[in-house]
Amino acid sequence: VDLEATCWDDSRDRARMEIIEIGAVEMPSANDEPTREFSRFVRPIVDPTLSDFCRELTSIRQQDVDRAEEFVSVFADFVDWIAGEAPFILCSWGRYDLNQFRTDCARHHLVLPSAFERHVNLKKHFASLLGLRKELGMERALAKAGLPLIGTHHRGIDDARNIARLAALVLPQLEAAGVIAPL
Ligand code: AMP
Ligand code: MG
Repeated sequence: VDLEATCWDDSRDRARMEIIEIGAVEMPSANDEPTREFSRFVRPIVDPTLSDFCRELTSIRQQDVDRAEEFVSVFADFVDWIAGEAPFILCSWGRYDLNQFRTDCARHHLVLPSAFERHVNLKKHFASLLGLRKELGMERALAKAGLPLIGTHHRGIDDARNIARLAALVLPQLEAAGVIAPL
């Protein structure tokens, strides 16, 4: 999964950030090609107007979020989508996405499903599997793996597709090491 959120060039206030896109792909097992995708914009309620910085970073347009449903309904659809074929392991590049789900669930008085906590931080495992001293952002990790970046960086669905290609390298090794159970 990869989330995009409201952001500003002059503020790093995490509590102010709200999800504006949920992008996700499903891999049936550790190194399978993705089979299903989830790609939805979300209308933010705290700051409904996207900053210039946010529109430029994400390429998400004001009309995309204006026409979108609010978090409560998009998140319900996402939970249906992801839990439809249980069990699942939620993976993302870093811990940001899980934390942002927590923030938005709390804001909307929703309970984050406990299965989301079985989360794999691919960025951390990629660094430790390669013996890197520092964790790499998605773009640098793709370059390290010799994979071109496909689509538009900082669009949730495109980031999720690229992260899935990195996951296909990382997850089989985590399975072999017993860090995660085979799906
Ligand atoms: P990403 O998955 O890397 O596209 O980032 C997810 C979200 O983090 C973005 O939608 C922004 O809200 C925020 N973000 C990412 N990079 C930056 C940045 N350089 N400055 C401020 N916010 C950022
Ligand atoms: Mg992203």
